[in-house]
Amino acid sequence: MNLHEKMVEIRKLVKALKKDAVGKTGFKDYPYISTDNILENIMDKMNELKVLLVPSLSECSLREFNYINSAGKEKVDFITQGMMGFTWVNAEDPKDREYAPWYFFGQQDEVSKSLGSGLTYSQRYFLKMSFQIATDEDDPDQRDTSGKQPQKPIPQELTNKVYHCEDCGLEVKDTAKKTIAEIVEGSQKYYKKILCQSCVSKRFKASQGAK
Ligand SMILES: [Zn+2]
Repeated sequence: MNLHEKMVEIRKLVKALKKDAVGKTGFKDYPYISTDNILENIMDKMNELKVLLVPSLSECSLREFNYINSAGKEKVDFITQGMMGFTWVNAEDPKDREYAPWYFFGQQDEVSKSLGSGLTYSQRYFLKMSFQIATDEDDPDQRDTSGKQPQKPIPQELTNKVYHCEDCGLEVKDTAKKTIAEIVEGSQKYYKKILCQSCVSKRFKASQGAK
């Protein structure tokens, strides 16, 4: 069998899988095939047919994501994203191979966790997409992200202006973690005033102490 014929065999197997999990909605239970079950079966069939899947990472970038969670605490997450690819290889004839470019995104409170979760999820999705598998658990972690305020694009008029803090009167300067525009936008949002970062921190600490 060539690589493409082997992939068809894997796809046939996936289609025959039994629904092994039960999801609940407000109205009724619905059976579905769990991703773990699918992946385990794909891996078994890949071994049997001698098919390899080799990941490769080509570009990766990292940025910080500052937000205030639903409990009012300042938090930092790390967002890693990058370009990667997967190569399907027919181990019986290693020149018989197929490369597919892919992306990954990860967001966690630690850098290494962020990269790891990004790669893990991207591989899960790559496998599911490769065999046109839809499941009802497409939010894999069911993470509660409701407390995160997504960053809006920063309006152009905020980017080159000079601002003065309404508390201390000093010019608002950027910090290692935040640009001027982010500081201004954040302080207007949470304190309805333009404030420098040290005055924001003072007010934040005071509000924490008052609780
Ligand atoms: Zn100030």
